Amino acid sequence: MTWGCQMNDHDSEVMRALLEQYGLVFTDDLELADVVVLNTCSVRKSAEQKVIGFLGALKHLKESRPGMIVAVGGCLVQNREIMAQLRRSGHVNIIFGALSFHRLPTLIERYRMTGHQVVETELEEQPPSGVLPATRDSLIKAYVTIMFGCDNFCSYCVVPYARGREKSRPLPEICQEVEGLVAKGYVEVMLLGQNVNSYGKDLPGKANFASLLDDLDRIPGLARINYMTSHPRDFSDELIATIQQSRKVCEHFHLPLQSGSNSVLERMNRGYNREQYLQLVAKIRSAIPAASITTDLIVGFPGETEQEFQDTLDLVEQVRFDAIYIFLYSPRPGTAAALMAGQVSGETKKQRFSRLTDVQNRISLEINNALVGQDWEVLVEGRSKNNPETWSGRTRTGKIVVFAGGDDLAGKIVDVTIDGAQTWNLIALPNNIQVKEESLPLGRK
Ligand code: SAM
Ligand code: SF4
Repeated sequence: MTWGCQMNDHDSEVMRALLEQYGLVFTDDLELADVVVLNTCSVRKSAEQKVIGFLGALKHLKESRPGMIVAVGGCLVQNREIMAQLRRSGHVNIIFGALSFHRLPTLIERYRMTGHQVVETELEEQPPSGVLPATRDSLIKAYVTIMFGCDNFCSYCVVPYARGREKSRPLPEICQEVEGLVAKGYVEVMLLGQNVNSYGKDLPGKANFASLLDDLDRIPGLARINYMTSHPRDFSDELIATIQQSRKVCEHFHLPLQSGSNSVLERMNRGYNREQYLQLVAKIRSAIPAASITTDLIVGFPGETEQEFQDTLDLVEQVRFDAIYIFLYSPRPGTAAALMAGQVSGETKKQRFSRLTDVQNRISLEINNALVGQDWEVLVEGRSKNNPETWSGRTRTGKIVVFAGGDDLAGKIVDVTIDGAQTWNLIALPNNIQVKEESLPLGRK
């Protein structure tokens, strides 16, 4: 079971491949499992509660099947209280930290040999090196971790404590992994890191995120490069220029803003203000007019006044994001913000969430409606989850497009004409679909 972000999803893909090499066969049927692995998230309390609930249910299963091995890893185990609970619990056999996921087969072996609970949670260790195997669900788009951890210490965020300090993978190793993926037929990579544009700061030499993108852009057969997540403070002019000149780096910028209020941004320790953020958006749009921009926002940060929230609404109106992901502030033990005065009530957070959602839904729909009648390139990801009669894919700007079509289009790059728009996706006409040889960069100056 996996909770949380794409980094956790990918760590689970690696664990699955390593456990398959170790001789286990994957099942998602708990009743059949000999080993149950929980890859956890602690970014918000709600994620934590889901894991705790699941562990409670597992306890009963373990009573009826004492031979079953339960391994718990990921961000949650770095929480001292939870760790104490896991250590005490009779039914958790292995506890592993966010930098030990690649050692899971060894940890299982150790438990099998000794019968004693195995704990390995150090975050100071070197992260995994070399190209690790991964069992991916998609045959089209592959996650590739480019760095581990985070050094930013935003005052609300548990990630630096849960995943350790920033550590970049060597550039040649990442290129080798991407070349290997292309050889297997993958056409898109999603580069993963908590702050990808500080990639390389800890490496000897001159490698940085721009030079990594530049090198990956030259790999034949790769159609699209995406990345997640970039910090607005570190988005350099050099990086914008590199993306502008590249062919494969997509025109989608996910730039977490978190708040539109300068005083809140300062309390959050984000390292930029609203004016700098607006300047960055203007630079991106001037270099790449077709760019889509999405963001993360937190409502109800400690001390957030109605005026500070209004500043967020105002910035959302000014930027006109393509989409936003809104989170209710969740106090995380060990973070600076959890101890701040003026914690906002749950009721106010929910009201602000819904007011912001209303504003953004209107903007997203307006932006998407303006695309109706236009031709867009789509990389087809597979059959639509909601309706297997239709295909689902994404534009280079990250927008989901759904369309009907009979042939096997998975992994193909097609041109479609947008026929309808909804808040979160676009609908295309089947008769206008054209298959293309390669993905082409969109409107750049
Ligand atoms: N590294 C990325 C960044 O700087 O934006 C994202 C990491 S975090 C896992 C994903 C999102 O979760 C953040 O952008 C933030 O909006 C949200 N988040 C993090 N901590 C939170 C908290 N304590 N309460 C609510 N939302 C939180
Ligand atoms: Fe958390 Fe901030 Fe690091 Fe993102 S940049 S992971 S929000 S500390």
